[in-house]
Amino acid sequence: MIKVGSAGSSGLGNYEGVSHCKELGLGCLEVEFTYGVRMGIDEAKRVGELAKKLGIALSVHGPYYINLCSAEKAKVSASRRRILESCERAHYLGAKYVVFHAAFYGKRTKDECYEIVKDEILKLQKMVKHFKWDVMLAPETTGKGSQFGDIDELVKLSNETGCAVCIDFAHLKARNNGKIDYDEVMQKVNKIKHKTGHFSGIEWTEKGERRHLLTKESEIKELFKYLKKYNVSINIVNESPDPFGDAVKMKKAL
Ligand SMILES: [Zn+2]
Repeated sequence: MIKVGSAGSSGLGNYEGVSHCKELGLGCLEVEFTYGVRMGIDEAKRVGELAKKLGIALSVHGPYYINLCSAEKAKVSASRRRILESCERAHYLGAKYVVFHAAFYGKRTKDECYEIVKDEILKLQKMVKHFKWDVMLAPETTGKGSQFGDIDELVKLSNETGCAVCIDFAHLKARNNGKIDYDEVMQKVNKIKHKTGHFSGIEWTEKGERRHLLTKESEIKELFKYLKKYNVSINIVNESPDPFGDAVKMKKAL
């Protein structure tokens, strides 16, 4: 099954955002902690209860300032803390997936970075288990060549740690100079057991992602054609500048 929804609540607040999803006939919503985890536990419970009642699947996007591969220890511990704070809120929201951009390569090779991220994910999973939070870490496919998280790295990471993956199809395109071979991508996507997704239009340069754009109907149709061809079951939130409007476009295309 494919569900579509909005990334964030476009300023409505999360509680209203959940109601708005329902009114628009959408199936999912990503709660965004982009600039920090500021939601209290009580608020998480309140939003989570409404989402459950209305049948809206929630996920969480962790803060942007995360780099598990930083050369500075303080930045790595702050990154761990931000991920765990996101996990705690996600648990009380009833959100299964905690999405985040895991790391930058910095001066490290791809392999070195992979090993560090893997080790960090395994440690974080232990903490999640310790606190009995019912959530899954979902590192995201990133939009720039300087960021850890191409699809091959994340397929491997999910197989070796059991983590989930957030597949951002727009990022895959931006990372690859605007080209995306959906047959190849969907075969890889099907090697990932637990997954959630992002989509939008995207502007890129040779360095990768520049900014998210409104989603073209032709892009939506192409994505859905291949998701159906490969029988991919996934929730996809739209991250365009008009996430509700474009999620409705996606819903119609479905
Ligand atoms: Zn994304």
